[in-house]
Amino acid sequence: MVEKANVLSKDWKAGIAMNFVKKIINEWDPINLFPGAPDDEYWTEIEEIESLVSATDDPDELAEGIYAVFVKEFGDDVFKRRKSECKWIAQMIIKRNDTGLVPVRMQPYFRTTSRKSDKDNERIEGMLVCCDSHEFEIQVGGKVKHNLFSKMHYLTSKDDKITVFARCKKCNKDVTVFDSKSDGFEQIGKKTGTLITTKSFACKKCANNNFSVYIEYKYPDVQELKDLAITETDNAYTWIWITLVCNKCGKTYRNFVDYQIG
Ligand SMILES: [Zn+2]
Ligand SMILES: [Zn+2]
Repeated sequence: MVEKANVLSKDWKAGIAMNFVKKIINEWDPINLFPGAPDDEYWTEIEEIESLVSATDDPDELAEGIYAVFVKEFGDDVFKRRKSECKWIAQMIIKRNDTGLVPVRMQPYFRTTSRKSDKDNERIEGMLVCCDSHEFEIQVGGKVKHNLFSKMHYLTSKDDKITVFARCKKCNKDVTVFDSKSDGFEQIGKKTGTLITTKSFACKKCANNNFSVYIEYKYPDVQELKDLAITETDNAYTWIWITLVCNKCGKTYRNFVDYQIG
């Protein structure tokens, strides 16, 4: 295992992980309390799950624990989620502890391929995966431009409006890969996601819409985030690159999105 102790202090690491438990549980919302309830409505359960997380990294054990916590607090007539679902949540929490800084929303679909850190930044690269498959249909909001000089196709960031959706070819689930209105460092705490009209993006060479999606995030040094008291660390990236590779003809759209935040 790579030693990152010099970059991430233990407390800070714990802080990231714990904040993440809250986010995952709130997004899961197993009792359907949101919207309507304040966002600390699950605080008792979250605290209990947090202590489980520091005690185990076994997904089955954590899943049993999550299940037990909710049954204890709400009773099994109110808490009706299955153990298999608790296991999925447990895996998300554990995976997050492994991969660190990747947006929570992307966690279930992001398979990390490399991670580099220097004293100023942390870069994480990965590929999009759903249903064990990397075949996605791409929808884009914004203008796709063709740079004749470099022969590059890319999504322009004019007006700061870019949206990229990827739809899993197997289960049809839509993953919002990037929305410039709500994602990244500058947008933290704003939650002003505004969907703009999107259209299907077909390969310019073979006209198919079946792509592999590669994403790279750049995060500021964690110490800097700490100094700025950023709590949504997962969303605090300052740069995102998205590369598409056509699964039919192999054409690569390198840096299809190359977006600096702020
Ligand atoms: Zn899928
Ligand atoms: Zn193609």
